[in-house]
Amino acid sequence: MKKSMMAAVFRGSKGLVIEDVPVPALEKDQVLVKVADVGFCGSDHSMLASGNLPDGYIVGHEVSGTVSAVGGDVQGVAEGLRVIIRPTFCGGCQDCQSGRPYFCQNNRRSIGIGDLPGAFAEYFVAYPQMLIPVPDGVDSQNAALAEAFAASLHAINCAGRESGSALVIGGGPMGLATIMLLKMKGFSLVSLSEPVAAKRILGQKIGADHVIDPIAEDLGQHAFLVTEGKGFETIFECSGVKTLIQQGMDVASRGGMVCVVSVIYDSAEISPATLNFKEVALTGSYSNTHLENRQCLEWMAAGKLDGRVLVSDAITLEQLPQIYKERICTGAAVKVIARIGEAY
Ligand SMILES: [Zn+2]
Ligand SMILES: [Zn+2]
Repeated sequence: MKKSMMAAVFRGSKGLVIEDVPVPALEKDQVLVKVADVGFCGSDHSMLASGNLPDGYIVGHEVSGTVSAVGGDVQGVAEGLRVIIRPTFCGGCQDCQSGRPYFCQNNRRSIGIGDLPGAFAEYFVAYPQMLIPVPDGVDSQNAALAEAFAASLHAINCAGRESGSALVIGGGPMGLATIMLLKMKGFSLVSLSEPVAAKRILGQKIGADHVIDPIAEDLGQHAFLVTEGKGFETIFECSGVKTLIQQGMDVASRGGMVCVVSVIYDSAEISPATLNFKEVALTGSYSNTHLENRQCLEWMAAGKLDGRVLVSDAITLEQLPQIYKERICTGAAVKVIARIGEAY
């Protein structure tokens, strides 16, 4: 058993630094996971940019790996099991037990989200209740992307529509994953609004029926044209730009649904009359459930879903600090994923 490991740790003003750190101690009720691949999430960027992390903290929760050691009190988990994780879960509180683990109030035990150390490292510890087995036929890179797709699936489930027309605002990983799932589910018309050309091209490649540059073109006019004057039935706000919530409401159909997927900490202005006159519903989504993670892995195993098309930067752990500065902070990357241990 190794005593130390490589990890990308947060060091205040220095940001991310690659260091040799101790392998986390395994408690009786935990498992140790050896990391294969780990994706960089928008929330990782938010946490690092805020600077509100303990010195030496390790982020990373979109991870695939293999169980390499099991605590004495853990039952039903074998060494060698291929897993991904749902990064927050206590299993004991009412929210966890009722299938809404993202509301977990029990100290909100989490991996890479401010509590237990995360997965941009050779190893991390997890609670067995967080583990989701990876089915045969799903490679470790695709598996590591399943949690991000599960968050998009959760947004679609929160919006509550099964078909029809949809607009995705923002072509980052979340918006693009949402488009892939909407088309897979059979939504008849999906438009993407995104100012960056490379992301619009990727949007088209992964199945968007229309892409629009909201700076050069008029989104209202686009909505009118492609929906024959009805407006979009479901809108997903995935850009994080606060003014675009109202923009989404403006192009919604009568009885339409706007789901705010990106987390916007600022306050935003909306015109309440839109809610009245069109009976538009406004909702939000947060994180995902175990079931949604399993569903995405099953789609991957069945060959219906391949998250790897979103990977713009497949890197090593050592490259992360530089890629973070040059490609993530600048918004140039779509999905950055690091290979740390052996792939499967
Ligand atoms: Zn994430
Ligand atoms: Zn809980």
